[in-house]
Amino acid sequence: MGPGPSDVSQRVLDALARPTIGHLDPEFVRMMDEMKGLLQYAFQTENELTIPVSAPGSAGMETCFVNLVEPGDTVIVCINGVFGGRMKENVERLGGTAVVVEDAWGTVVDPDKVEAALKAHPEAKILAFVHAETSTGAQSDAETLCRLAREHDCLTIVDTVTSLGGTPLKVDEWGIDAVYSGTQKCLSAPPGLSPVSFSPRAVAAIKARKAPVTSWFLDLNLVMGYWGAGAKRAYHHTAPVNNLYGLHEALVILAEEGLENAWARHRQHHLALRAGLEALGMEFVVAEADRLPQLNAVTIPEGIDDQTVRSRLLKDFNLEIGAGLGALAGKVWRIGLMGHACHRGNVEFCLDALNTVLADLGAGVDKGAAVAAAQACYDAAPEAASA
Ligand SMILES: *Cc1c(COP(=O)(O)O)cnc(C)c1O
Repeated sequence: MGPGPSDVSQRVLDALARPTIGHLDPEFVRMMDEMKGLLQYAFQTENELTIPVSAPGSAGMETCFVNLVEPGDTVIVCINGVFGGRMKENVERLGGTAVVVEDAWGTVVDPDKVEAALKAHPEAKILAFVHAETSTGAQSDAETLCRLAREHDCLTIVDTVTSLGGTPLKVDEWGIDAVYSGTQKCLSAPPGLSPVSFSPRAVAAIKARKAPVTSWFLDLNLVMGYWGAGAKRAYHHTAPVNNLYGLHEALVILAEEGLENAWARHRQHHLALRAGLEALGMEFVVAEADRLPQLNAVTIPEGIDDQTVRSRLLKDFNLEIGAGLGALAGKVWRIGLMGHACHRGNVEFCLDALNTVLADLGAGVDKGAAVAAAQACYDAAPEAASA
């Protein structure tokens, strides 16, 4: 129950164990076509260029930047946590100029600051930001940010590694141009693949490049020879066949549940977890309206040692929760409720384990208080209890 990888269901594990066939086998190609449709559903897009990159989320990030940023381009990069900082690195390594819009960790990207930066930099080609900051649990208003970018004729690159499948994300409706995600967060597939999607505007920008893409492996013009539509598929690299079986199954599970239901499930269990954590005296890092349901960053109680608690949870309860990153290291815990791991049993198990360890360490909490608070929350919204 950390920031990912989340628990993988038995159905997905069984899919991973299917026989390894050729990456150009007609049956495999059929599965690739299905996968594209399933990803389009998950992203809520009709973008033709919607594929899983054969590498983890960071490679999806790099795919977006390396294909869209050319030397001399100005990119407005929003930083409100760890992952925005990596976007800036990408821009600068590609010879672009990063104009940074900074917001405090734990807060969302401020649309007013973004608008001011867009006005001050009419030469900007791209606006890049993180929808769901996994380092803090803050969810920025992607719809508003993308609207501002369009008004200033800017493309958008959006990190949705933690949001996809866990909280509303509407690529076409919001007008996102380039988006990347991961498999090991709310999709609950193993790590190692990165779903990406590019709008027709983004594809046009890639085709209009003056210089070739500096990465051979991530050059979408070449990747499309393998993932593109039609029967003529050419060898580009050997696709991670079994890992793709796993992602396919995870996406089928998401489609069976329905996106709206998955979003509602994450929210309901987040509310129960919140009730329990607050009963233990913990405070959320992020203001209520901006919280991600799937990543709960809470302050560690006064006088309690981070490492002692996490080690005991792991040793005595076989439970992993996330540590704080960067400026928040040692100050917060990050409790994930992602995908297959987001259910009532886990909420109550985690609260009970935390309650027990904190009581043992003399944190002045009542035994059983956290689970009781969560149960009261479920009783008030019974439809969630069965989910
Ligand atoms: C996890 C994560 C990444 C990186 O994904 P990897 O699969 O670890 O490379 C990027 N952005 C965000 C917001 C993430 O949570």
